[in-house]
Amino acid sequence: MYKRNREWIANYKFHIVPKILPDELLSSWLTRTAFAHGRTLSLFTTTYIKNEGANLSRIDLDFRYDEQLLNLLSNKSQLPISEILKMSLRSEEGYLFTCNECLYPPKQIRKLLDKRTHFGLIFCPVCLRTDKVPYFRKQWRYLFYNACPKHQVYLVDRCGKCFERVRFHKMALNDAIAYCHNCGRDLRKTRPKKINEIHLYALEAIRWFESGLKNGYFTLQGMQVHTLWIFQTYTIFYALIKSTKKFKLRNFPLLTEYRELQAKLQRYNSKKASLIYENFLLTAMVYHLFQNFPKNLQSFIKDNNLTHRDFTHGFKNMPFWYLKTLEELVPVQNKTGRDISESEVIGAINYLKQNNQKVTQQSVAEIVGCHFSIHKGFVKTYQFLVKKSKIV
Ligand SMILES: [Zn+2]
Ligand SMILES: [Zn+2]
Repeated sequence: MYKRNREWIANYKFHIVPKILPDELLSSWLTRTAFAHGRTLSLFTTTYIKNEGANLSRIDLDFRYDEQLLNLLSNKSQLPISEILKMSLRSEEGYLFTCNECLYPPKQIRKLLDKRTHFGLIFCPVCLRTDKVPYFRKQWRYLFYNACPKHQVYLVDRCGKCFERVRFHKMALNDAIAYCHNCGRDLRKTRPKKINEIHLYALEAIRWFESGLKNGYFTLQGMQVHTLWIFQTYTIFYALIKSTKKFKLRNFPLLTEYRELQAKLQRYNSKKASLIYENFLLTAMVYHLFQNFPKNLQSFIKDNNLTHRDFTHGFKNMPFWYLKTLEELVPVQNKTGRDISESEVIGAINYLKQNNQKVTQQSVAEIVGCHFSIHKGFVKTYQFLVKKSKIV
């Protein structure tokens, strides 16, 4: 009898469907929906979403691509699937990141917990305070987003009183999703750190990345560059800067701040709050390399004696736009030394075709980054492909 009753509820549509707020995260909306039903998120999902519900507390709901679950939420809320998908971080796939059925977020997206970059779910206390209905934004999970451009404060990654991280599935039922699950303190009361004037350049960086993502392209040298290429390059530059010690970065206004922070991070083991600040400065440096394009990047290469290998070794997902730009700025010194794979050549051919450019031995070599007639491996692969599939 009890079982039948539960099944009946499991088939039931949601009674109340809160309006999705601008840029809202799926988990934020679902927790609000649960609270509107007078239930905690855990109780709500086990009751209404049945089997799948029990697992929800253990997965990263905002990143996981689970068609069945998305369909179920659409069916229960009677909202179109596109509305549900819009709240998922997966809707940024192809613009902010790519991933082949990956289970964990790529570098551009914060994991729920990652001690290298932040603690828990990040938020702007002032946004929560000024919201009519407090809710959590998607952009707070982007790695480049470390401060709120609107309120000019650093974002916060834990409760201001007990320092516990924010977890929706543990939150007690309340009038809003704005209370620490551990100590009950109103997260809206968390006092954020104000951004002072010298750091406004770094805030400009966040705005630049944000508006590019919104538009779908960035403008460099008067040319429109696809956002995905810029964010993939962001990841490479970010890692490069982080691993290079004592580098020079001409005209970058916050270099002293970054150096001081690095020294501090080494001295003390306490990384509390410093990680968001470190990310904030790293993002600003990456932004700096994209400005005045390609001049700032050129001086960075020259001043630090960087080679082609420094920009390519160990990096995955290098967009052709990146390789092509690099080829112009730091030519490969040894034209015959590098192994060139067949997939690299095929990729270059596809890239040219997609951009309606002529496919020739020379144009393909230019993208791959080798000499079109001297590099034996390339010549062999290219001609083999021409013969095999008449690609040209
Ligand atoms: Zn804010
Ligand atoms: Zn707390």
